[in-house]
Amino acid sequence: MKYNQILTAALLFLSPIAYGQTTSATIKQANLSSANPTNAEIFTPVPNVVTPGKSFANAPSDAIILFDGKNLDEWVTSKDQSAAKWTVANDILTVDKTVGDIETKKKFTSFQLHIEWKVPADITGTGQARGNSGIFLSGKYEIQVLDTYNNDNKTYTNGMAGSVYRESIPLANPAKKAGEWNRYDIAYSAPEFNADGTVSNPGRVTIFFNGVLVQNNVAIEGATSTGVKHVYVAHGPASLRLQAHGDKSAPISYRNIWIRE
Ligand code: MG
Repeated sequence: MKYNQILTAALLFLSPIAYGQTTSATIKQANLSSANPTNAEIFTPVPNVVTPGKSFANAPSDAIILFDGKNLDEWVTSKDQSAAKWTVANDILTVDKTVGDIETKKKFTSFQLHIEWKVPADITGTGQARGNSGIFLSGKYEIQVLDTYNNDNKTYTNGMAGSVYRESIPLANPAKKAGEWNRYDIAYSAPEFNADGTVSNPGRVTIFFNGVLVQNNVAIEGATSTGVKHVYVAHGPASLRLQAHGDKSAPISYRNIWIRE
């Protein structure tokens, strides 16, 4: 799995071994490597060539475009699978709280996701009732969207923007102020389950929030909810879901949503 390999490489780099501490295993490997350097050289598989976007605003060549400003053809209403009815105007997508959550027609397992979001400049409300939305990985695990710019809006920190909702506090708060666009770049490894439905490998998520690492290979505890204990229920490939939160503040907007499997 590509993303697991990326995460493993990142963890190896960050591990104590990378800072000069050694174990017998690494010493052995080093000796082998110096005796025959080809032992450490791997030639297959060959990574696919991917043309990067001209800027962060452009999707790479192998991305599945979920929203590019034109329409909601890739989305349906979660509650009844009818055509998605959020508002598309001026190349952006704005939540319609009267129609509820929307989700992708396509189902995904593990992926890389890019998504941009903006809280309206005239946002009102406090705590979780101020620009609340969310991005549900596998339709179940919420990465919170909320106006928590400059830590001005007090709320529980594992419910801030960039949190795994009610699970994991973001490592930093790089949120932009209301009226400005934010971006999430998310690497997600879907959970794996045993035949009896129990989880064998939890889901994991790494999040860059406006280019700043806020979740680093964090294990997801279970389907996020307001309950104290989050639990897993076995599932396969699933839709990506966006939240129409029921608070009274003005709805937030999204743009430039793409995913790589
Ligand atoms: Mg939310």
